[in-house]
Amino acid sequence: MENIAKIEQPFGQSPPRVHCPVCGNKIIVEGDIVPCDHLLYFFITACGEFIYQRDDVKVHIENVYDEDGDIEDISGTILKKLKKPSALALEITYGGMACGPIWDTDYVGFDFEVIDPEPEE
Ligand SMILES: [Zn+2]
Repeated sequence: MENIAKIEQPFGQSPPRVHCPVCGNKIIVEGDIVPCDHLLYFFITACGEFIYQRDDVKVHIENVYDEDGDIEDISGTILKKLKKPSALALEITYGGMACGPIWDTDYVGFDFEVIDPEPEE
């Protein structure tokens, strides 16, 4: 079973401000990636690259592009290879105006297996 959530933002809304669903960490702060222990990967289509890959993900993805230059099924490929029922993949599509309307999709993965220790009082 693949845990992939596909979300489409209304046209014109800013790119998604993704927070970790496990610990609430804000993933991108002032343009820099701030990965928590749950973040598996973050692929931004507009950049055409992963801005983050945890080490155990890195070994599975060599090339996200097929021979036509299209992006392959990133979420499905990673989830299939990781074999982690605790992984959740988000595919967030957002659109805005450039020279014309442009739609992009960001791919983000989280691992619910990593549990934070209870905070000490
Ligand atoms: Zn987290």
